[in-house]
Amino acid sequence: MTPQDTRVPKAIRRRPGGLEIDWDGAGDTVFFAARALRLACPCAACVDEMSKRPLLDPATVPTGIGVESLELVGAYGLRIRWSDGHGTGIYTFELLRGAGS
Ligand SMILES: [Zn+2]
Repeated sequence: MTPQDTRVPKAIRRRPGGLEIDWDGAGDTVFFAARALRLACPCAACVDEMSKRPLLDPATVPTGIGVESLELVGAYGLRIRWSDGHGTGIYTFELLRGAGS
């Protein structure tokens, strides 16, 4: 068993084409491409809550999608409002830690 990863971002920066998360303030940064992150949206409209089956059709997500705004949700996650109008997904830091490494 490895110790549980409980890092929270030291900084979250908007970058052309995506987001950069700095996990330790010392250069351990991970870039998340906007479209890949949009496709990984964990909300109930994008993923079936019971079966975890994807409901989002990737063809409906524009290739040039971008981040409209960012909002921290408590101490555990990030709400991203996308340029396609979608904004109900909360990306937990747990999800982001897994996605970035
Ligand atoms: Zn969603």
